Amino acid sequence: MLALQKTRPSPGFELREVPEPGVPADGEVLIRVHCAGICGTDLHIAEWTAGYESMGAAMPVTLGHEFSGIVERTGAGVPASMTGLRVTVRPSTTCGRCARCRSGHADDCTGRVGIGIGRAGAFASLVRAPAANCHALPDGLAMDVAALCEPMTVCAEAVATAEVAPGQKILVVGPGFIGQGIALLARAAGAEVVVLGREDAPRLEALRALGFRALVDTRDVELREALAPLAPFDAVIEAAGVPSLVAACLPFLRKRGIFTVVGIHPRPAEIDLTALVRAHQQIRGSYRAPPRTWDAVLAFLGDNQDTMRRLVSHNIALADAADGFEAARSRRASKVLFHLGNRP
Ligand SMILES: [Zn+2]
Ligand SMILES: [Zn+2]
Repeated sequence: MLALQKTRPSPGFELREVPEPGVPADGEVLIRVHCAGICGTDLHIAEWTAGYESMGAAMPVTLGHEFSGIVERTGAGVPASMTGLRVTVRPSTTCGRCARCRSGHADDCTGRVGIGIGRAGAFASLVRAPAANCHALPDGLAMDVAALCEPMTVCAEAVATAEVAPGQKILVVGPGFIGQGIALLARAAGAEVVVLGREDAPRLEALRALGFRALVDTRDVELREALAPLAPFDAVIEAAGVPSLVAACLPFLRKRGIFTVVGIHPRPAEIDLTALVRAHQQIRGSYRAPPRTWDAVLAFLGDNQDTMRRLVSHNIALADAADGFEAARSRRASKVLFHLGNRP
């Protein structure tokens, strides 16, 4: 089968023929992949930015961790009735052996391995995954929209971390797919949402088409000038991964407000901590969502399929991966989705 692999600890990736995975291991299933999205993480891995060195041991490894598919085979200890189930998969697998796992706190597992990072992922027709990581899709939820579940759980966790509440005014920094998803979920939670981009016309336009009106592009207007009349914000959620934007946006957060960081930053951010102290503000990090969030997000996706599809800017075949990565890198794309073995 064709697979998109990281083969060397240096920039780039390879599309190559690899053997199909055989019988799934105990407790695992074999899934025929329908759709798989390119994530910011995949871009970092492709470009080989710092922080992914530990992947070296797994190479060559097939990338892809945001996906949907159908269970084709079950391993020992997995009910055969799972065969044929439409699923999406939590990509973070736990070891089941470490002290944290054995004491029932698998969330703190010290031996986590990511599907599509430390073990074979879904940029291929077939992928293996633990049965316990699979979430069945609700009836009526299409495979392409279901593949957006993983990034949307990241968005849901950010909105929860920021304690977004009805009637609040929220600033979302960065209009990539994660920022867009946060904007949708914060609006669904009853908040008024402002989204800030930097030379982000296509992605802000996608939000405008979904009814967002308070959109700021710092290509057209100076950040301070744009945000001052809209401030103070009850919460700021940063999903751009641009360190300087943390300091630039903090002054527009209200006293006792929460600044939530979701972006992956290439460098430390320099911030005025004394101003933060005097305003009694908090900075929080937000990352992976707990399993219970997945079913809530699947329900949201089922209720908002047309909306979610408008955030998929590219539906392409795996063979066109180079174009897909280029689009994802360019800020033209919101989400690039590979359709495996079925026409886009
Ligand atoms: Zn991802
Ligand atoms: Zn563990």
